[in-house]
Amino acid sequence: MSAFVRFITVHKKLTNKIDYIIVGLGLAGACLALQLLKRGKRILVYDTPSQNRASSVAAGLFNPITGKRIVKTWKADEMFSYLFKFYQEAESDLEIKFFYNSPLYTPFRAIEEQNEWMSKSADDSFENYISQVTTEPTFGDEVNDPIGGILLSQCGFINTGIFLNGVRELLLQKESYLEELWLEEKMKTSDNGVAYDNVSAEKIIYCTGIHALQSKYFEMLPLKMLKGEVMTIKTTKILNRIYNRGVYVVESGEMEYKVGATYDLVNLKPGVTPEGRMELEQKVKDLLSIPFEVTHQDWGIRPSTVDRRPIIGQHPIEKNVLIFSGLGTKGVSLAPYFSGQLADYILGRGNLDKEANITRVKSLYSKFH
Ligand SMILES: Cc1cc2nc3c(=O)[nH]c(=O)nc-3n(C[C@H](O)[C@H](O)[C@H](O)COP(=O)(O)OP(=O)(O)OC[C@H]3O[C@@H](n4cnc5c(N)ncnc54)[C@H](O)[C@@H]3O)c2cc1C
Repeated sequence: MSAFVRFITVHKKLTNKIDYIIVGLGLAGACLALQLLKRGKRILVYDTPSQNRASSVAAGLFNPITGKRIVKTWKADEMFSYLFKFYQEAESDLEIKFFYNSPLYTPFRAIEEQNEWMSKSADDSFENYISQVTTEPTFGDEVNDPIGGILLSQCGFINTGIFLNGVRELLLQKESYLEELWLEEKMKTSDNGVAYDNVSAEKIIYCTGIHALQSKYFEMLPLKMLKGEVMTIKTTKILNRIYNRGVYVVESGEMEYKVGATYDLVNLKPGVTPEGRMELEQKVKDLLSIPFEVTHQDWGIRPSTVDRRPIIGQHPIEKNVLIFSGLGTKGVSLAPYFSGQLADYILGRGNLDKEANITRVKSLYSKFH
């Protein structure tokens, strides 16, 4: 009998008293699960791992310098030192390899950009992130960089499939995982906690990504569905670093790379599109100087927010119902840091960042007060 089946059998018979229920095992749920286990808590995670969940489709890239204007990302200094420690510890606890620290090169598009980065590289606050600024072709055997580019450190990627599977296996061993659809209408809440089937817990945390909008507690949140498409390419040469300009090209196998992504707030229909493929193919042709073959195309919906900050914290009325969502385009870098903050908050050991706290969502508060 597998651990999973054994657990279901036991689970159906007994009333389980645990500390916390987590719904959803994408990046948010997986990081929070590890944080709560580390703090000695008993948890139960419900998940229905759909093929196109954002966390499985993601290329897994983390990069402290992002955006069209190439600026330091929000909270880069805190988040990036945290994520290195978090994922490396997880690798060692789970006994799997999924975390790759790799340099990332962005070719310049214009001389102005070159000048801007030459001056930024002298700025102390960028010291930890910039390895090199070049003004001449530097990696021309792999990319088009006629006027050079910036080589960044503290970048890399995680193989999200291996990471999520590793966390799932750990939870199965601890009899803390159920692969089933969790139904809100079956939950009962009280001042003392929540009850679901034969499980009672102090609190429940929704880590359901964009599906949070289907909850009566969180449908008012300003979460926006942001569809993204990625494709996988095969090359005849190993690329020696991550490349990023218009699209990112991130290793996903032997001479195999994920190229992404598109950003679409309007066409949210499930599935891949010829337009998505054309856009990515054109951008990767502009970036790479070597031939490639497209082998796969995929899509997912990101749980994004208008202010580009995650949404974490407690429901205004139902204090035992919490949320961890809004990871947008940066789940890999945001999830470790904010899952740590949320775990401490739940245990009464710390506060939530004002910019990420659900209390900033006025519409939710006006509805319930
Ligand atoms: C194309 C694409 C490329 C991306 N690339 C990157 C990247 O390179 N780097 C990066 O940092 N980010 C990237 N992202 C963004 C990243 O994927 C998201 O920020 C992140 O995955 C969100 O994680 P999540 O756990 O909140 O949601 P999800 O991954 O959607 O996970 C939610 C989980 O909850 C489960 N669930 C929901 N409701 C229920 C229920 N009632 N019962 C049981 N289970 C339930 C779902 O089935 C799912 O498994 C990308 C996203 C896309 C779409």
